[in-house]
Amino acid sequence: MFEALPEKGLPGDQILSELTDLRSADLPTHGGRLFAYVYDPALDGLDELARAAYAISAHVNGLDPTAFPSLLAMENALVGAAARLLGGNDETVGSVTSGGTESLILAVKAARDSRPDLATPRLVIPSTAHAAFAKAAHYLRVALDVVPVGPDLRADPSAMAAAIGPDTVLVAASAPSYAHGVVDPIAEIAAIAAERGVRFHVDACFGGWVLPYLRRLGADLPAFDFAVPGVTSISVDLHKYAYAPKGVSILLHRDEALRLPQYFAYAGWPGYTMINPVISSTRSGGPIAAAVATLRHIGDAGYLDLAARTREAVSVLAEAVTATDGVRLFAPPETSVVCLASAESDGVDLFVLADELAARGWHTQPQMAFAELPATIHLTVTASVAPTATEFAPDLAAAVAAARAAGPADLPAPLLEAAAQLTPEMVTPELIGGLAEGLGLGGGDFTRMAAVNSLLNVAPPALREALLTGFLSLLQRPSRVTE
Ligand SMILES: *Cc1c(COP(=O)(O)O)cnc(C)c1O
Repeated sequence: MFEALPEKGLPGDQILSELTDLRSADLPTHGGRLFAYVYDPALDGLDELARAAYAISAHVNGLDPTAFPSLLAMENALVGAAARLLGGNDETVGSVTSGGTESLILAVKAARDSRPDLATPRLVIPSTAHAAFAKAAHYLRVALDVVPVGPDLRADPSAMAAAIGPDTVLVAASAPSYAHGVVDPIAEIAAIAAERGVRFHVDACFGGWVLPYLRRLGADLPAFDFAVPGVTSISVDLHKYAYAPKGVSILLHRDEALRLPQYFAYAGWPGYTMINPVISSTRSGGPIAAAVATLRHIGDAGYLDLAARTREAVSVLAEAVTATDGVRLFAPPETSVVCLASAESDGVDLFVLADELAARGWHTQPQMAFAELPATIHLTVTASVAPTATEFAPDLAAAVAAARAAGPADLPAPLLEAAAQLTPEMVTPELIGGLAEGLGLGGGDFTRMAAVNSLLNVAPPALREALLTGFLSLLQRPSRVTE
């Protein structure tokens, strides 16, 4: 393993070749066979362009826009483009953040700080809302009211209405939800929030840069943006369907008064007066310049074309699922997600299926059972999938056949018995170390995950959190500290 701080500095060529070697163990970010984490438009030259733009601004600091007006100009341009795409007008304002999670934390912060009179401000979300809302509530000490979704996996407007109380500072919904890719009834919820005088955030982190184009292409999707009265803020991640490199999201507010409590200002120390619109103070111009370059190179017509390719890929993949015995579509493939579940009769073990798909080069995202929802497999579909989509059906059929032949992951009975007795408080580093060894994870090979996923799937959420926290903590150990 290489050292980050060798005794003597090394030549650049050597370092770059070592980094390239390291990267070869990663999942492929190009090729249209990875359905989570990365978003690929498969456009020649785009990586190089974004990288060059990144390099120009990497050392520029977003801390002070008067010192670096280039960043201010680029941020205003990005926010303007997002506002135009999402039904904004001349009143619309926004901020560039480092990602969807930060955008959501700031939407919750702005709402919380707009009501300093409340002892316990509250946030109302549907159960399918992104986990980042729970993180925001936790960090900001805002109480979280989670409302079950309807049988169609969409937020239930009347149940949401019933959850709004005098201490509710924000209501949120998704366009679309990450897990299933369905759009919540935004207009209905917006009307309810407006009537109650409560802010309403539309989390379009995932789909905000593709939904407008899908709608232009004729997809049957409802309005979800500022065109809907009562929507007070919207988040959209540029590092998702705008295809920018990681580290850029936008949080839009309908007007400046709504944004103002998002800022943090502090003059009570001997240094510079700190005025921050976002969580970070010092921040690199690199991701912002790369996003600007990406948007300007693809252009509006380019995004429309990418959305058309995405739409085509979604329909090919969805047809493959429908045509394959043993699996079924779990949610309507109305946006850019294909979500599949085991068939109701004669179904296949989904965790084994995910491994079999991976063995055939298709990297999907297993989702654990939750409340009354079964385990599912999630596919985030991007434009890069269009050329390979027709290869999916035969591989899915073969993977299902292989998964049937293999049967469900067989966990050693003593392990299952021990797991059934576990409570989150009992999860120690020693226990995690033993479990990791027992499940074959000790060597750092994560290609066959069915046993691990099956175990996690039967663990209650609090235990699952404790196990995965322990496991991540086990992985995140510094390489050699002392001789
Ligand atoms: C990805 C996502 C987020 C969180 O975004 P990060 O960039 O991963 O922090 C929030 N909401 C939705 C719907 C998302 O898909």
